[in-house]
Amino acid sequence: MNRKTDLVVVGSGLAGMTAALIAAQSGKQVTILTHGVGSLAISSGTVDVLGYVDGKAVDDPFSAMGDLPEQHPYRLVGEGEVRAAVDWLRNLSRKGGLSMTAAEGNRRLVTVMGTLKPSWLTPDSFCAEAIEDVHRIAVITVEGMKDVHPGLIIDQLQRYPHLAKKEFFEAVLPNPIAHAHRNITPLDIARYVETPEGLQWLKDSLTPYAKLYPVLLMPPICGMDHSQQLWNQLCMALKVKIIEMVSIPPGVAGLRLREIMRKALNSAGVYVVENTQAVSAEVEEGTCRALTTVATGGENRWEADSFIIATGGLLSGGISTAPGKAWETIFGLPLDMPEQTEEWSSPAIFGKSLFASMGVKVNEDLKPVDKDGNVILNNVRFAGRTVGGYDFAAEKSGLGVALATGWHAGSLAGKE
Ligand SMILES: Cc1cc2nc3c(=O)[nH]c(=O)nc-3n(C[C@H](O)[C@H](O)[C@H](O)COP(=O)(O)OP(=O)(O)OC[C@H]3O[C@@H](n4cnc5c(N)ncnc54)[C@H](O)[C@@H]3O)c2cc1C
Repeated sequence: MNRKTDLVVVGSGLAGMTAALIAAQSGKQVTILTHGVGSLAISSGTVDVLGYVDGKAVDDPFSAMGDLPEQHPYRLVGEGEVRAAVDWLRNLSRKGGLSMTAAEGNRRLVTVMGTLKPSWLTPDSFCAEAIEDVHRIAVITVEGMKDVHPGLIIDQLQRYPHLAKKEFFEAVLPNPIAHAHRNITPLDIARYVETPEGLQWLKDSLTPYAKLYPVLLMPPICGMDHSQQLWNQLCMALKVKIIEMVSIPPGVAGLRLREIMRKALNSAGVYVVENTQAVSAEVEEGTCRALTTVATGGENRWEADSFIIATGGLLSGGISTAPGKAWETIFGLPLDMPEQTEEWSSPAIFGKSLFASMGVKVNEDLKPVDKDGNVILNNVRFAGRTVGGYDFAAEKSGLGVALATGWHAGSLAGKE
């Protein structure tokens, strides 16, 4: 089957969804082709813009961007574009019923490992400033919940000098879905809290702690699609400040944000084809004419005027490796990596590892370039983790780069 559209976006992580939405809002007819759901669904859903540069914590990500290498995606798209992208997402999430705010500088969010993690744009329920102002804090989990252990969280938090003298209390709520016959996750409870009986259960279970502690630290369990409303309702009814902690996958807050974006794509008329994998491209003299995808129904050919490739990194399938070489998977673009695979990683656990920042080299328009800076494909842009030049884990910049590059690629494609 052959289809034709203005723009094809490959990948439905934050980069792909952002690019598609922005281009569609500029009047383009857009199709997303995607194999899986992307990392947003397993992320904590708080947008890290830039937490560290060269291992040093930064307070204001925007003023620190000038210290990044020239090939870093933020340097390529420009600070103004990053700010515009963040503002755009904040508005979109607010319209979708989820209020996300940015503070003066990076926020320090509490994780379920008991660490403080820098992040920039965060749902209100994650803002943890209130723990600074109170002395008594209850740390809450649910019986049988995987990976949320108040004892560990408290031990770790008390290693921070400003939290060492706080009085923390461990609280375990009864498991309301014991019939699950397995460990439960915050996602199970968040879904249950969307039901009237689930909300009542949470309110009743928290009441005794709310009488004694002004702040309750909890895993992200205050609902899914209506989390903002439910969180507000609980805080007001219990006269307490509830702070949701950043959890490990499944990413409750990432799924909340993903659902808002999915609905926005639907409203913008973006055609989304799921469970399909782009496997090859037809390129004539530097112009991509079409992509071929495979799915259970067979092969399809997708023609477009331009293409945005937001296929993620190694985990999502945008990049592949073999000993001594790495490449981008649709066009087969080789990535600039040493032949000796040992040189890809640093022997120091927190050292700089090349594999962590490998990706497609692009110019300011996010088009792929060769070593000399010549454009290789003139109607193809790359966005998100498939772009090289940054280490999202070390920098804490994952969703920030995905958002900014997706926004920039979608805006440029929308103007053509
Ligand atoms: C566990 C975890 C937690 C994280 N937490 C945070 C966090 O709290 N804050 C933060 O800022 N960052 C976080 N990150 C980093 C952040 O999630 C990623 O950097 C970011 O989501 C990358 O987005 P992306 O759109 O570039 O790629 P992805 O989200 O990886 O999306 C790639 C998409 O492309 C699709 N795809 C790939 N190849 C093909 C193909 N050939 N054909 C069709 N489709 C294809 C995939 O199925 C997927 O839909 C986390 C990452 C992980 C793994």
